[in-house]
Amino acid sequence: MARPSPLEVYALLDKSNCKDCGYDTCMAFATDTLERKVKPKDCTHLMQDPKQAKNREKLINLLTPPQKPVTIGIGDKAVTIGGEEILMRHQLTFYNQTALFIEIADDDTDLEDFIKYLSELKIERIGDVLTLDGIALRNVSGDKDQFKLAAKKITEISKLPVMLCSFNAENLITAAEEIKENKPLLYAVTKDTWEEIGKFAIQNNLPVVITSSNLDELMSLSATLQKFGVKEIVLDPGTYFGPGNLSITYDRIMQLRTGAIDKEDKNACWPVMGVPAAYWSQVKIGDDKELWEHQYQEVIMGAIMESVDTNLLVLHTGKKKEEIWALLVLMTLRQSVFSDPRIYPAVDPGIYRVGEPGDMAPIFVTSNYRMTKIPVEQDLQGANLNCWLLVVDSEGIGIESAVAGGQFNAGSIAEAAKEFGVFDKVKHRILVIPGMAARLSGALEDEADAFVVVGPRDSSGIPKFMDIQWKPEEFMKEYESWSKD
Ligand code: SF4
Repeated sequence: MARPSPLEVYALLDKSNCKDCGYDTCMAFATDTLERKVKPKDCTHLMQDPKQAKNREKLINLLTPPQKPVTIGIGDKAVTIGGEEILMRHQLTFYNQTALFIEIADDDTDLEDFIKYLSELKIERIGDVLTLDGIALRNVSGDKDQFKLAAKKITEISKLPVMLCSFNAENLITAAEEIKENKPLLYAVTKDTWEEIGKFAIQNNLPVVITSSNLDELMSLSATLQKFGVKEIVLDPGTYFGPGNLSITYDRIMQLRTGAIDKEDKNACWPVMGVPAAYWSQVKIGDDKELWEHQYQEVIMGAIMESVDTNLLVLHTGKKKEEIWALLVLMTLRQSVFSDPRIYPAVDPGIYRVGEPGDMAPIFVTSNYRMTKIPVEQDLQGANLNCWLLVVDSEGIGIESAVAGGQFNAGSIAEAAKEFGVFDKVKHRILVIPGMAARLSGALEDEADAFVVVGPRDSSGIPKFMDIQWKPEEFMKEYESWSKD
């Protein structure tokens, strides 16, 4: 499907440039609607003028992505899945990352502890805070009252969105009735339960999952539910382990995504989910393997699914503290897959304080590539150093490439040292440059009028460098002896 152009959006706007939306022109507003920074509802004319109702409708249709978005939960923790325009990240960008839901059982004795742990889980990595997206509550007890109580418990303790999982329609509806204000996702509609669950979903404006390993049946149920009036659907084509089943699982996900995005199939136009947690019900867990070997299989399936933009995953492994490794894998991979390839990963150049640097504190120099600056800063903080970090504009390129390409050079470092007044902050003229930029040291001494020390190639070596090599008084004596010459 071709992306609409700003002109096509502009043609449907009021064109008065009234500035009510905060933009100077309707054209600027049109451009940002395509970047999803604003929505048609943000144009007051479009929303309030009855004569513009037709254009509003046309604009909403024009801007609706081929794979529709679905929102689960409420408030600031609500998660939107799907809503993508492309199959491959490099074609534009993915807008909504894979949502990670961890399953817990309604008869779990540690239910409260799990809910608290999952809700509070935070991993900080390269400047981002990574969190989980929801809890999938399974009706393992088979009892509708227990299921209802457990659902209520989650919403009392946590703000995380909830997915209610039961193939018993009565149990599912009973629990959903209890927490319907929290907009849970209902798992799942089958050919036997579509009418009962569909009716409840329509009445309460709730999203539903349709599950079937038969794609024709899945599409037929999607058509039926949409005709019935269900507004938000998630498709589950099944997750299968065992020889040959990985490719079948992958193929079904890709068929649905291709159907939605490339073929504009109105029945496939919904987010797709996977259930790596299904491993534990499909594979016989014997004594021949360690527990982690089984968990590893689940995580591999999750990683494959994430890498093809499966919109929601349900995981079994990860609800216990000792299983954090599994979440680290999936959350960090997700962070990479869903970063926007159009945005250069750069940070602002400048002088950054670490700890409480004194007069003779070292000044470390680095580039403004985000994946360099943040890990270096974290290594300095982790080592409890008191120092300065001079971040030089290398056009967002990492040190090794920027030295080779000339973006990180003696002139640019000297200029940054002057611009940010680094030598006014200390009583020395010493710069510590990364080992990968060693060849710049001679030229930099001249350009910056400084004593240049070559630090380690990797910032994890800085603590050792400080113990063994950092001798500022000696460096300054040497610098002063040159200055006299
Ligand atoms: S509120 Fe609407 S009409 Fe006014 S400038 Fe913005 S887009 Fe144009």
